[in-house]
Amino acid sequence: MSVFSEERLKQVREAMAGAGADALVLTHLPNIFYVAGFSGSNAVLLLLGDTAHLFTDGRYTIQAREEAPETQVHIVRTALTEACGELLRGRSARKRLRVGFESSWLNVAEWTRLKKAAGQRIAWKPTSDLVEGIREIKSEAELGVMRQAARVASEVIVEAPEYVRPGVTELQVAAEIDYRMRSKGASGPSFDIIVASGPRSALPHAQPTEKRLQKNELVVLDLGAILRHYCSDLTRTVFLGRAPARIRRWYKAIEQAQEAAHQALRAGVTAGSVDRAARRLLNQHGLGSYFVHSTGHGLGIEIHERPRLGRGQKQVIRAGHIVTLEPGIYVEGVGGMRLEDEVAVHEGGTEVLTNAPRGLLEL
Ligand code: ZN
Ligand code: ZN
Repeated sequence: MSVFSEERLKQVREAMAGAGADALVLTHLPNIFYVAGFSGSNAVLLLLGDTAHLFTDGRYTIQAREEAPETQVHIVRTALTEACGELLRGRSARKRLRVGFESSWLNVAEWTRLKKAAGQRIAWKPTSDLVEGIREIKSEAELGVMRQAARVASEVIVEAPEYVRPGVTELQVAAEIDYRMRSKGASGPSFDIIVASGPRSALPHAQPTEKRLQKNELVVLDLGAILRHYCSDLTRTVFLGRAPARIRRWYKAIEQAQEAAHQALRAGVTAGSVDRAARRLLNQHGLGSYFVHSTGHGLGIEIHERPRLGRGQKQVIRAGHIVTLEPGIYVEGVGGMRLEDEVAVHEGGTEVLTNAPRGLLEL
C-alpha cells in the first residue's frame, strides 16, 4: 500500500482495537476510498488481521487492482455483503470473531444479508465515526490537494463578472460555473451548485431554476470543486447594480460575523464556541433570527464532514481540521446573503484556503 494508506491503515487498526473488533466491514464508499484508495461506486472493504479484502464487481476489475494494489480484490457476481459474509464464515470456523460494521451506513437489507452469510460464530460490534474520526484530521498531502480544490473554486468566483448578469437564468449561471471548474481540472462539482436570485436567495439551499437574473437583485452563488477526490466549498453574494444601504449594512454584519468566527477558531476551543462567536455578532446587529443554519462544517473527501460548527457542539477543534465559516442572513420575501470561506487549523494559527475577495460583489 502507498505510504499514506499504510499510516491510515495503522490508525484504523488502532481504532478497531479500541472498539474491541478483530475485523471491520466498511460499506461507506468515502471511507473505503480513504483506507484503500479504491474510488469505484460499488465496494465493501473487510479488514481482517493483517489483510484487507476488497469486494467489488466485474466493472472494476482493472481499476481495483490499479487503485488498491495491496488489497486482495474479490470480483463478485452476487451481493458484496454476501461474499464478505461467506469469507467471515470461513474465518470464524476455528475462532469466534468480533466484527465491527458501520452502523450509520449499512442498510437493513445488506445488514441482514451479511449476518446470514457470516453465520453464528460472529459477535457483531456496531461502530460509528470510526474512520470519519481519523479522516477529519487532514495530512499535509491532503491539505495540499484541498488548497488546489479551493483555488479552482476561488478562480471561478473571481470570474463571476464574466457570466453573472441580468437576463441569464440561474441554470445557465450554474452550467457556466460547472464548465469553468471542470476546465480548471475539477472532476465535477462537490455538491449541486447553488445560484439563487432575488427573493429565492432567502432559501439557503435553493436549486437553480429557469428564473432570469434581474437588475437590483441579490444573487447567492455557492459552489465547490472536486479535485483529486477532495472537495472545496465557497459562497459569494452578488448585487446586480448598486446595493441599497440596508443590503450593505446586512453584508457588513455577515462579514463581521465571519471575522468573529475566524478569530474564535483555533486548536483547543469547542466547535460550539466558534458558532457562538458568529451568532453573537449577528445578534448585536439585530439579525440573529435570520441566521438559520450553523456557522460551518468540516469537509474533505465529502462535502460535509466532522466537525460541525453548530450551536452547543462540544467537539474540540484540533490542528488538521479544515472547516467552512459561512454566516448568512435570510429574509423571506426580500432575499438572502451568505459569505463562506474554508479555513485550515494549524498548530500555531489558521490558513484561509479560499482566496477570492470577500466584499459584496456589485455588478
Ligand atoms: Zn457552500
Ligand atoms: Zn458549506
